[in-house]
Amino acid sequence: MSAGVTIWRCASCRTGYFPEPLLCPKCHGGQFDTDRVTEAVIEEVSVIRHMIGQENWQPRRIANVRTPEGLYLTVGLRDQSGPGDVIELSEDGTAPFGQAKS
Ligand SMILES: [Zn+2]
Repeated sequence: MSAGVTIWRCASCRTGYFPEPLLCPKCHGGQFDTDRVTEAVIEEVSVIRHMIGQENWQPRRIANVRTPEGLYLTVGLRDQSGPGDVIELSEDGTAPFGQAKS
């Protein structure tokens, strides 16, 4: 597990994106640097109760979250945080997760 989630930042105008765009919609630049975002506010939570082809599936909560600069990400929730809560972001492999700030 590593702290923060990867986003992409335009090399010329520094606007952040997730996922990586082909071209920056603002300045049409095509070069991006990776950056990390470490916290976000939960907008909405949903629960995935079933997954086709998966036995023994445990219900999982996922959240749509908004970063301080206004990017929207979908992350797995590791606790009972809800809408309006500020969470800490982390990555497990390439999967983004969030949990209440400790
Ligand atoms: Zn740009």
